[in-house]
Amino acid sequence: MCFNRLDIVMEQGISLERAISLVQNEKKKLPLEVVHLDNAHGRILGKDLISKVNDPRFDNSAMDGWAVRKEDCLEPNTSLQIIGINQAGNPQTNHINTGQACKIMTGAQIPTGANAIVMIEDSEIKGDIVIISGPARETYIRRKGENISKGDETLSVGHFMDPAAISLAATMGHEHIEVFSKPTVGIISTGDELIMPGSEINDYQIYESNSFGISSLVERIGGKPIRYETVADSLDKLRDALNHAAEHCDLIITTGGVSMGDFDIVRKLMELEGKINFWKVKMRPGGPPLFGKWQTIPIFGLPGNPVSSHLVFSMLVYPWFEASFCANTDSKLSLGRKVRVKMLNDVKGAQDKICLRRIKITSEGNNLVATTHTHQGSGNIHSMVAHNGLTLLPPNVDAKIGEIIDAFWFN
Ligand code: AMP
Ligand code: MG
Repeated sequence: MCFNRLDIVMEQGISLERAISLVQNEKKKLPLEVVHLDNAHGRILGKDLISKVNDPRFDNSAMDGWAVRKEDCLEPNTSLQIIGINQAGNPQTNHINTGQACKIMTGAQIPTGANAIVMIEDSEIKGDIVIISGPARETYIRRKGENISKGDETLSVGHFMDPAAISLAATMGHEHIEVFSKPTVGIISTGDELIMPGSEINDYQIYESNSFGISSLVERIGGKPIRYETVADSLDKLRDALNHAAEHCDLIITTGGVSMGDFDIVRKLMELEGKINFWKVKMRPGGPPLFGKWQTIPIFGLPGNPVSSHLVFSMLVYPWFEASFCANTDSKLSLGRKVRVKMLNDVKGAQDKICLRRIKITSEGNNLVATTHTHQGSGNIHSMVAHNGLTLLPPNVDAKIGEIIDAFWFN
């Protein structure tokens, strides 16, 4: 632990776990808003959803076929008198007596007196008689409430509204749902060398890429990104940009300028005028991230190297969203998941740091296996496209061919 220039306690060179807990301490209490299901995809549920109905709402047929009495169909090729037809969406008025059958469509209510269904394929119609050649099954009746009972809570606060969750909300009778308002996230890239893709470029310049990737990560997990203009390596310009962002954002993310270089202005300005909760995390790549507050707004200073900024987002910024959205492992809010993989290449770990090598995870027999392909440099964003996962190698641990290790598999 050490003190920065404002004598604010700052932790330095901490473990990833410690960094995550400091980040989550600064979670935002997000207000709720009501959205129509048409606009709910990708939103995070802010209030538990209780079913307004039973599902199924009534006993109904799982098959197109015949509603019968099972005891009438024990002998092969039984003939039954056809008394009518039940269609889904029509009120049910038919009653079956012994020796009778009612034609029934999938989803239609079961006629009174019937206790089983025969598939249409197992029957032949002759005038007003049906000859039954297959089994009459009770299991072809879907029972009232067998999926969900009225009053059940099937979706909880923090749930990521994916397509299945949206259909479930509709099944339960909800046209509108309460979701967390999207946190507004200001994204500011820094660096004199950066120029927008599509612009004329000089020999000493590079295309700015971080803000685009980080912005899509924010969007992907339910935030509202504002991608601000790139800021040159100037304390005054950065101060103006942060002040502006602090007026409009719930969270600020900068990229670049957090290491030890002469022009690492994010770190410098934060030391001079911000509050730093921690700087540097024991992870590779992505070692020098900074987290603190600009005025009252939480701010992440991500490293400039493109792989580092993406990985620090996944490992460290994502937990801020998770906490603010009250998400847990059941919530389906995620950028990926922890798995065990068998390495098909040797990979080197990192001294004193958790090592996040890019790996390609595939399944082979009963195992997930992992291979490495491109150059692993933290400047090589192509490595994030050519691979789909990361090693989670503990500090000072290498992995040899054939070893099974922890890994993170991006969704
Ligand atoms: P820095 O952390 O500012 O020293 O930057 C580290 C490396 O990442 C340098 O090679 C930068 O040119 C590069 N870099 C910084 N910001 C970006 C960005 N927004 N897009 C692409 N590369 C960047
Ligand atoms: Mg820079």
